[in-house]
Amino acid sequence: MKSLIEAFESSGFKYETGFSMNRYTSMKVGGSAEVIVYPRNSSELIDILNLLRSHEVKWMVLGGGSNVIAGDKINGVVVSTKNMKRVDILDGGRVEAESGATLGQVLNLTLKAGLLGLEFATGIPGTIGGGVIMNAGANGGELCDVVERVWVWHEGKEIPINKDEIGFEYRGSHFPTGSVVTRIRLALKPGDTSLSKEAVKLYLKKRNKTQPVEIANSGSVFKNPKEMPAGKLLDDLGLKGYRIGTAKFSERHANFIVNMGGAKPGDVLKLIDFAKNTVYKKTGIVLENEVKIIGEFEQ
Ligand SMILES: Cc1cc2nc3c(=O)[nH]c(=O)nc-3n(C[C@H](O)[C@H](O)[C@H](O)COP(=O)(O)OP(=O)(O)OC[C@H]3O[C@@H](n4cnc5c(N)ncnc54)[C@H](O)[C@@H]3O)c2cc1C
Repeated sequence: MKSLIEAFESSGFKYETGFSMNRYTSMKVGGSAEVIVYPRNSSELIDILNLLRSHEVKWMVLGGGSNVIAGDKINGVVVSTKNMKRVDILDGGRVEAESGATLGQVLNLTLKAGLLGLEFATGIPGTIGGGVIMNAGANGGELCDVVERVWVWHEGKEIPINKDEIGFEYRGSHFPTGSVVTRIRLALKPGDTSLSKEAVKLYLKKRNKTQPVEIANSGSVFKNPKEMPAGKLLDDLGLKGYRIGTAKFSERHANFIVNMGGAKPGDVLKLIDFAKNTVYKKTGIVLENEVKIIGEFEQ
């Protein structure tokens, strides 16, 4: 790790050591990460990933941290894309964004440029890179509806991958193992955005009413099983308000775990396990995590 940090220093990369992940994740849980590095653009991202590869250290990439539950300790290096925010509006409804641009930023810029198609993403937090990995969606749309091409770093170089080759699925995608999204091209439709602006307002209103947006959380904990929405399933089984320590299933939406202040990563994990076991015992349905669990957890 020492020689890697020296390499970060000599290349002028921005990094921190002993960084607390509870500052980074929307759930505001998580202990310290050994090193976090912040590439400022996709070319720095590629250089950093190549350095990590040559130093053979453990690493992971994070966007906005809005879909992760971080453990008490994160070994190795966290690569944060949050400073990679460049967005270019091209001709013919095409938009290219670096992976750290937030979905909100891209939505605002595209609406200003008179482009339709991304309205569904209103209020989804996080970056467009994280969004592509998760195939984030809401209001009847998903990112795969508007993605045309994604560039990823894979085994030392940046490669373009067309939408058809990505294998998008409900809240997921299939890129070659070890890929990091560097840039994304969207294909939107030029048109009259006056109705889009109304849709954005409505979507925000609905979100604020149905989700615990004012308390730290990481979005939907579980994917919706085919039988019924996970929130309804958990609500029917009486899990709304169920808590361990200061982590609990939201009273407003049972598929959200909220951190009422100082929640321990292990308590969040215990809640997830408790819900899965309860649902399986009572209904035979196997819930699958939508959130990504990272790092090591104390018991
Ligand atoms: C209040 C709230 C509401 C939400 N509502 C919705 C919703 O309506 N619909 C929905 O789909 N989601 C929703 N989410 C979940 C979350 O916002 C989305 O999944 C979002 O797209 C995640 O983006 P992120 O940048 O925060 O990803 P992160 O949480 O940082 O990462 C998620 C995963 O993607 C990986 N990743 C991130 N960036 C990259 C990259 N550049 N290359 C490779 N891998 C990468 C990470 O390693 C991790 O595995 C909500 C979350 C919250 C807190």
